[in-house]
Amino acid sequence: MNAAAGRIAENVRQVRERIAAAAARAGRAPNEVTLVAITKYVSLDVTAAAIEAGCMDLGESRPQDLWSKAAALAQRPVRWHMIGHLQRNKVRRTLPLVHLMQSVDSPRLLQALDDEAARQGHPVDVLLEVNVSGDASKTGLPVDEVGTLVQQAGQLKQVRVRGLMGMAAREGDAEGARADFAALRQLRDRLAAAAPPGVSLAELSMGMSGDFEQAVEEGATIVRLGSILFEGVDA
Ligand SMILES: *Cc1c(COP(=O)(O)O)cnc(C)c1O
Repeated sequence: MNAAAGRIAENVRQVRERIAAAAARAGRAPNEVTLVAITKYVSLDVTAAAIEAGCMDLGESRPQDLWSKAAALAQRPVRWHMIGHLQRNKVRRTLPLVHLMQSVDSPRLLQALDDEAARQGHPVDVLLEVNVSGDASKTGLPVDEVGTLVQQAGQLKQVRVRGLMGMAAREGDAEGARADFAALRQLRDRLAAAAPPGVSLAELSMGMSGDFEQAVEEGATIVRLGSILFEGVDA
């Protein structure tokens, strides 16, 4: 292992311990939580080091970065997650590369994904991104529009909704974030009770470097971690 991979592996080990402890506090099993390493801050070399360190789920927020890294790392068994805004004109090229499209933020994007997945002949797993705090500076669907998309998803043939994604309003205020995570989980519970056949809301993608323990305690099944995994590594 090169030096960067060694350091990342140590960061991952510590983070996994903290995830396991947070899960235990909530009476959950640690393997209910998937760690997605967000590589948007780091170079291709450091991204390759993260794979060497055992990170197989990787996320990018800009489609162009996902395209170029996925192409360069095509020989590795990576599951790519798209976590940022995706314009509809980038759906065609992004779709074959992603394991989970986490940031569906409009009915038009949901429909465009279904149309293109039908053209490409394979289903696509997605999360609906919710602006759970209502903060105008945050991305995602307004809370009161999510139910409509869940119903719309029941009509689609290739899109498989798997859950919700969200982020807390107050970065740097981990306990304040807890209220946003609890609200996202409660929204999920409400919508799941009325979800159409074929639509699952089992996944909750929430928690970043500053607040992932609170997110796991509040029910996260996916945490998206960037900076904490790359501490001490030159980008
Ligand atoms: C950048 C980003 C992350 C990771 O942020 P860190 O604080 O570095 O862990 C997680 N989710 C989304 C949507 C992001 O854009």
